Amino acid sequence: MTQAITQPRIEFLDRPLRLYIGGEFAATDEHLTVLNPATGEELAQAPLASAADVDRAVTAARAAFPGWRFTPPTQRARLLWGLADRLEALADEFATIEVLDNGKPLGEARAVDIALTIELLRYYAGWTTKIDGLVPPNSVPGMLSLVRREPVGVVAAITPWNFPLLEVAYKLGPALAAGCTIVIKPSELAPLSTLRLMDLMHEAGFPAGVVNVVIGGPDVGAALVQHPGVDKIAFTGQTATGKAIAAAAAADLKRVTLELGGKSPNIVFADADLDAAVGGAFGGIFFNQGQACVAGSRLFVEAPVAEALTERVAQKARAVRLGHGLDPATEMGPLISAPHRERVLGYVGQAEGGGAEVVAGGQAAELDGYGGFFMQPTVISGVANDSPLAQEEIFGPVLSVIAWDDVDELAAPANDVPYGLAAGIWTSDTSRALKLADRLDAGTVWINTYGMFDVAVPFGGRKHSGFGKELGAEALEPYLQSKSVWLDLDAAVPQSGQGIGR
Ligand code: NAD
Repeated sequence: MTQAITQPRIEFLDRPLRLYIGGEFAATDEHLTVLNPATGEELAQAPLASAADVDRAVTAARAAFPGWRFTPPTQRARLLWGLADRLEALADEFATIEVLDNGKPLGEARAVDIALTIELLRYYAGWTTKIDGLVPPNSVPGMLSLVRREPVGVVAAITPWNFPLLEVAYKLGPALAAGCTIVIKPSELAPLSTLRLMDLMHEAGFPAGVVNVVIGGPDVGAALVQHPGVDKIAFTGQTATGKAIAAAAAADLKRVTLELGGKSPNIVFADADLDAAVGGAFGGIFFNQGQACVAGSRLFVEAPVAEALTERVAQKARAVRLGHGLDPATEMGPLISAPHRERVLGYVGQAEGGGAEVVAGGQAAELDGYGGFFMQPTVISGVANDSPLAQEEIFGPVLSVIAWDDVDELAAPANDVPYGLAAGIWTSDTSRALKLADRLDAGTVWINTYGMFDVAVPFGGRKHSGFGKELGAEALEPYLQSKSVWLDLDAAVPQSGQGIGR
């Protein structure tokens, strides 16, 4: 049984929280209540942006764009690197804020959310000085052509609550490195680390308007998407929201990248290192309380080992220690909200009657001393791949196990979902793994590992998991546009109009 945790004092949370617009911290008339998901109690009053605030933020980003785009790349690099240093110095505070706001265990917040954000800022600081162009060999005598890469302009970044700071960083790093300015709207359910980051950006000396933050729900996000001063939208969230945003963006021909939901297959062959596969199946679904876009939520196990492997994963699930993320003994925290837990439990209810069997968990969990939104890690065996349990993104700690017999018929059901984000393969036969990887319709395939990320390796989806990559050099591309410049080398004194139609 866990001990009730006393919330540590964080000076930032004692202050009235403000939006960040045009280099100033802006108070609002209205606020929204942010809950601690471990206790269900109020954590903070976040400033709620009005339509006028959204307009001011976009206007500030537009005004800052010409200056920022021509700021020497070395200077942009120094600012990003300096931000990473400041974040590293306050890593514990940021990790604690993520725990209080999102519920995740402290060790994960430190090692994943905050550590990767720091690395990412340094990685894109390095790219500022390496965004070069081309001198293509054209076939027109006496003509030089240059292809230059320029920033696209003002970016609207709209992010979810599951990795609050990291999802912002995925967009902030490449956008600022490319020379874009940005207006960020983090999730209304977990906006605090983004607001705290603005203190650091302010202190680091980013020019006014280069980065702006507005807080609110779908209305504020929609106002940002529809604002004529926005050139590009970088969105991470649910597929349904992504479709609405893409439709709204199309009306103005705004650029869009979409990182959306997933229903990833995690495939185990009988010849796999089964200890590793059990760990990979378990971590693949239960990391971040199952609230990860890449969650390996469909576990495909080769029939001869299916029952034994399922039981081993179920045993681990039954032994998970649920608790407050600040308790060092906690292995899994709460879900983000009461309605979200209800939604997840609704899927578990559908298992009954469809031939599937709940072999671990399946219930909400009540923890002494906490009123939060805990749920038992859940394993369901005998799931049909065409059932809602296997087809729809549950976004919670629910693993659906599907046994398979014939490797030649494996790729079809593995691909037979609307999503195409990630996949896992566990086998000791590497060539077989690579052949199967070719046939999987996923943006990332992990072989004998699961959930690996690195700042240099692109990540993104296919099908209803979206389009556009984050991380790596590829993530810079959506923030850049090329311009072809022609120069007549033989024109000693160019005259107006000369050369047209040549
Ligand atoms: P969500 O779609 O409900 O909300 C995401 C953001 O969009 C929030 O900031 C929200 O306020 C805003 N929003 C909602 N409606 C809007 C609208 N009509 N116009 C503009 N903005 C709007 O998603 P969520 O519940 O916060 O996040 C969970 C989802 O995110 C899951 O589906 C998960 O798979 C996905 N996700 C994907 C990735 C990825 O890289 N593919 C990573 C993390 C999370």
